[in-house]
Amino acid sequence: MTRERMEYDVLVVGGGPAGLSAAIRLKQISPDLSVCLIEKGAEIGAHLLSGASFEPRALNELLPDWRERGAPLNVPVTEDRFVFMFKNKAIRLPTPPQMKNHGNYIISVGQLGRWLAQQAEALGVEIYAGFAGAEVLYDAHGAVMGVATGDMGLGKDGQPTDRFTPGVELVAKQTIFAEGCRGSLTKTLFARFGLRDEAQPQTYALGVKELWEIDPALHKPGLSIHTVGWPMDFATYGGSWLYHFENNLVSLGFVVGLDYRNPYLSPFHEMQRYKTHPYISAFLKGGKRVAYGARALSEGGYQSIPKLSFPGGVLVGDTAGFLNVPKIKGNHLAMKSGMVAAEAVAAFLNAGKTGEVTDYPALLDKSWLRDELYGVRNIRPGFKRGLIPGLLNAALDTYILRGKAPWTLSHHADHTTLLKAAAASPIAYPKPDGVLTFDLLSSVFLSNTNHEENQPSHLRLRDPALAITHNLALYDAPEQRYCPAGVYEIVREAAGPRLQINAQNCVHCKTCDIKDPLQNIDWTVPEGGGGPNYGMM
Ligand SMILES: Cc1cc2nc3c(=O)[nH]c(=O)nc-3n(C[C@H](O)[C@H](O)[C@H](O)COP(=O)(O)OP(=O)(O)OC[C@H]3O[C@@H](n4cnc5c(N)ncnc54)[C@H](O)[C@@H]3O)c2cc1C
Ligand code: SF4
Repeated sequence: MTRERMEYDVLVVGGGPAGLSAAIRLKQISPDLSVCLIEKGAEIGAHLLSGASFEPRALNELLPDWRERGAPLNVPVTEDRFVFMFKNKAIRLPTPPQMKNHGNYIISVGQLGRWLAQQAEALGVEIYAGFAGAEVLYDAHGAVMGVATGDMGLGKDGQPTDRFTPGVELVAKQTIFAEGCRGSLTKTLFARFGLRDEAQPQTYALGVKELWEIDPALHKPGLSIHTVGWPMDFATYGGSWLYHFENNLVSLGFVVGLDYRNPYLSPFHEMQRYKTHPYISAFLKGGKRVAYGARALSEGGYQSIPKLSFPGGVLVGDTAGFLNVPKIKGNHLAMKSGMVAAEAVAAFLNAGKTGEVTDYPALLDKSWLRDELYGVRNIRPGFKRGLIPGLLNAALDTYILRGKAPWTLSHHADHTTLLKAAAASPIAYPKPDGVLTFDLLSSVFLSNTNHEENQPSHLRLRDPALAITHNLALYDAPEQRYCPAGVYEIVREAAGPRLQINAQNCVHCKTCDIKDPLQNIDWTVPEGGGGPNYGMM
C-alpha cells in the first residue's frame, strides 16, 4: 500500500521544549514558512517528564510577555537546600552556586509543553500528536528529506490487521530532530552521518519520579531540596530532588548515573528506599502518591555534543545532549538550542539554500548556551572515581578554576561499566509497605502507560539468544532491575530460561537502549499514541 505524502518547509520531530520552541521561533521569524510538528505521545505533554526547577532565561527571549500569556510558571523558588544524606542522618551543606534557584520556578514540563503548543498553534504551526516518527527518509543524494510515521494496525506477527493504516511520509526542506534523550531516529542519524565521531561517548542517568499530594501543613511552595549520598554507596553517582510545587503537590525523584557498576542495582528500588529516609519521609507523612514515571537524561555535557547539522536536518535539545548536570537542568538549554536552530534554518531557507545548515552550530557556539555548558564540563566526569573525589573536584572546578581548567575530562559509554554478577554483591531491597514505598506494578499503573497489545514489539533484540547466553549468564539479567517498568522478566521453564518482554508496560525511558551490555536492545517507536500518559510530570 502506498503512503500518503505531505510536504512542508520544516518538519519538527518531537513536541518537547526544544521542538516546540523551534517551531515557535520559525513562525515568529517567517510566518510564511509551513511548519509541521509531530509527537509520539497521545497528546503534547503525555511523554514529558522533568523535575522541574525551570530557569526562564530562554523563555524570556522566546516569549517575553509569557506572564500576560498565562504561562504555567506559578511557583517561584523560595528556598534552596543541599543535603548530604547518611542512612539515618542528614547534614545541610552550603548550596553550590549552580544549585541556587533564585529567579527560577517549580513547574510541570507537561503543562509547559501544552502551553507552548498553544502558542505554536496560534502562530500557525501544524501539530500532530499521536504520530511517531518511525523512519528517516533520504533523497537520492543521501540528504534527509523528512520522516515517515509508523504504520498503525500491524499485528504481533508484523502482518496488517483490519485496523491497518499505513504511515505518512512527511517531507520537508529541513527536519529538526527534537526527540529528547536517546532519540530513536537520532541514533540512526549518528550512524549514517558519523555525527559522534569527534565527540566523547554520551553518558546518561535515569530519573525515577513520583508526584505526591501532601498534608497542607507540611507544604512549603517553592522549597527546593537536592540530596547526595545515601541510599547510593560512595562509588555510585546519584542524587535526589524534592520540589514543593503548587496545590500541595510535591515532585520528588531519584537520579542514578547509568554508569553504575553493580548489576544488582535497581534505580526503582533505590527511589523507594530513598523515601524512607526520615528527612524525606517527614514531608510525605499523611500524603498520597498521585503519579509515577521515569525518563533518562543526557549527562555528558559539552564534550559529548555530537555534530549538530547534516544534509537536510539538525539536532536540538536533549537528543543532542544539552543538559547542565550540576544544575540538573536542561529545559532552558533545550529551548535555546531549538530557538537558535530555528533562526539558522529560517535564514537558510529564506536565502533559497538547500543542503546542510552549517550556521546552526556556529551560531550556537556564540550563544550563552555554549558558555554555560563549557564552564561545567569537568564536573560530571569528576565523579568517575566516586562521590567524595567528585565533590572535591566539583568544588575545585567551581570555586578555584571557575570552569576555566586547561583540561577537559572524558566520559565512557554506560553499557561498558557493569561488573560481572559473580564479582558484585546482591542488594537486599526492603519490601514495599504500600504507604510510603510501593511495588513496581502499582507504580507503573500510575504512569497511565498503554500500548495496543496486538502490535510488533517495539523493543527489538538484535540477537534474542544473547539475553540468556550473555546477559543472564554473566550479569544475572540486569534488565530485570534497571527497567523502571518491569518490562523484562526472566521466565524459568522446563526448556530453560527465557526473556519475556512485557512491551505494553514500557514508559519510554530509553534505559534499556542505553545500558544493555552488548547494545543488543534496540528501542524503536511503538504505534503512535502508545506509551505513558503523564498529566503533570
Ligand atoms: C528525571 C528528570 C529530571 C529533570 N529535571 C529537570 C529540572 O528540574 N529542570 C530542568 O530544566 N531540566 C530538567 N530535566 C531535563 C529536561 O527535562 C530535559 O532537558 C528536557 O525535557 C529536554 O527537552 P527536549 O524537548 O529536548 O526533549 P523531551 O522533553 O524529552 O521531549 C521530546 C519529545 O519528543 C517526543 N519524541 C521522541 N521521539 C519521537 C519520534 N520519533 N516521533 C515523534 N515524537 C517523538 C517525545 O515523546 C517527547 O515528547 C530533567 C530530566 C529528567 C529526565
Ligand atoms: S523497556 Fe526500556 S524504555 Fe521501556 S521502560 Fe523499560 S527500560 Fe525504559
